Amino acid sequence: MNPITLTGSTPDGRTVEVYACGSCLLTAPGGQQAAERCCACIRCGEDKGAARRTYTTCATCAPIVADVDRRRRRAAAMARPVVEHDGPVYVDDLDRFFESMAEAADYLLDVEHDAAVEQPDDGWLIHPCTVAKAGTPDLTDTVLEAWADNYDDADLIDDLRPGLASALADAQRYAQSMAPDVWRPDLTRRVVAP
Ligand SMILES: [Zn+2]
Ligand SMILES: [Zn+2]
Repeated sequence: MNPITLTGSTPDGRTVEVYACGSCLLTAPGGQQAAERCCACIRCGEDKGAARRTYTTCATCAPIVADVDRRRRRAAAMARPVVEHDGPVYVDDLDRFFESMAEAADYLLDVEHDAAVEQPDDGWLIHPCTVAKAGTPDLTDTVLEAWADNYDDADLIDDLRPGLASALADAQRYAQSMAPDVWRPDLTRRVVAP
């Protein structure tokens, strides 16, 4: 804001003008216009004062802009295709997972009478979840890497790989079979409460 013009000469003798923001005194690489916009709220144009950071909103506009962004993201999510789904679901508005749509529907029926829970006026945003086993690290790699951190002979460490892999094969399978299920919301689709 209120740009300051600084005049100087380059090493080869050219006279140049550089512009700095009159509020924070940072020079603006984009010239006079950039210096003018620096420290001005990108929404209302007021000087952001003590809360200044270049090219952001002032304290008054920040929640307004955040709310517009949130509504835009939610509208885009609500436009996702509705699918039939049998399995866990994620209720975006509550940031909560449920075992099934039936369980989610019961819960939502309860909170619809709870004044403390914000009720979306265009319906709950619910995503189906994919279910996958938690990843299990490769036990052979993990042990070899630990050994290599403590022992410099890379060739010897490599020689140990086949024996170690066959010894750990059962343990690897066992660990993988015990891995818990991980639910991840599929944000490209949604489901609706019955
Ligand atoms: Zn500035
Ligand atoms: Zn503002």
